[in-house]
Parts: sequence; C-alpha cells; structure tokens
Amino acid sequence: MAQSSRKLVNIDNTKGGVENLVLPGDIISTAEEYVPGKNTAEMEGRIISLVYGNVKKDDKNLLISVSPLKSRKSIRAGDTVYGQVFKVDQRKASIKIGAAYDPVSGAIQFNGEGYVNLPQQYDRNSSPPVRIGDIVRARVVRTGDRGSELTIAGKGLGILKTLCPRCRLPMTRKNGSLYCDNCEKSEMRKVADDYGAIEIYGEMQ
Ligand SMILES: [Zn+2]
Repeated sequence: MAQSSRKLVNIDNTKGGVENLVLPGDIISTAEEYVPGKNTAEMEGRIISLVYGNVKKDDKNLLISVSPLKSRKSIRAGDTVYGQVFKVDQRKASIKIGAAYDPVSGAIQFNGEGYVNLPQQYDRNSSPPVRIGDIVRARVVRTGDRGSELTIAGKGLGILKTLCPRCRLPMTRKNGSLYCDNCEKSEMRKVADDYGAIEIYGEMQ
C-alpha cells in the first residue's frame, strides 16, 4: 500500500470547516440541531446524506446540506470506486457506483453500475460476502457496456458500512466478523480494513 496516497477522512469531525466526506445514508445531524438542506433527508429524527459529498453547515439558518463531489465522466481498470450493493444473486453482487478515487482531488462523484463476481463456494451453506445495502470500496477490473467488473479482494477493499439485517442498526467489527450490539447477531462479510473508520486512498493491494 502506498502510504503517500492515503488521505484520512474522519467522518465524525465536522467542526472547524474541515471538509468531510460522507456517503449516502450517513447520519450527519439530528433533526433537532439542523433543518435538512440540499441532498439530505430526514429519517426518524436524524438527517442523512443522500449523496457522496462534503457536509456544509449554515449555522445562521440552522441548515445542513451536502455538496456533491466534483464529477467524472469515466473510470478505468485499476481505479478505486465507492458504491452500494443493490442486488445479490448466486453469481454476482450488483453495485451502484457513486464515487471514484482521483489521485489529485480525492474522492469524486462518478455514477455508474458495476458487479462483483461471487466465489463459487457461496451457496446455501455460507452467507454471501456482501449484502444488499452495503457500502463498499472496490477496484475496477475492467469496464464494459453492461457495467464494470469490480473486485473486493484485498485488504483495503470490501464493506465500509453495513446495517444489521435484523434490526437495521449499524454493525461493528468484532473478532474479524460483524456484530450487532443491539440484537447480538453476527455476520461474516468481506469488510475493508478500515471498516467503521473510513480512509480514502487510491492504491491498494
Ligand atoms: Zn441487530
């Protein structure tokens, strides 16, 4: 891993004008503190981001919004992308790509579709390495008309964020698997090594 290309983004640090990358579904405030502005929505008393972007707070009007990232037209083999799993079948997981890593600008917006081929041994006896709704970091293997082939094999690749399939609360990493503090469900998935403390970087093994 090229250390020099790593750029730490602390999604909890929203003070002092620091630019903070948020992902779709990230909670950025409570509905008591702010009113939802652009690219946000209110959900059960919390304000969530609907896009990949940077949080902007307007303390005068108590408005919180998210500015989408600069956008990009295309991706290439070797690029790192961010997205959300929207379909899983026996052979592949389909991913809605929302951002790509750019060596100069960091994460930038890119909208597209991709898929990850699932291992053959995944069947009734084992759970899939990813599930619908998971936010993942993947690398582009090849681009194509029917979506880009992606891989989540590698330390920095895999799930960055997931919700408990039973109670829909964020799961934490515990002893190499994912665990729900609320209902004690645990799940084996392919998580990225910075699960729960997301870092943005482009070059990964
Ligand atoms: Zn749970």
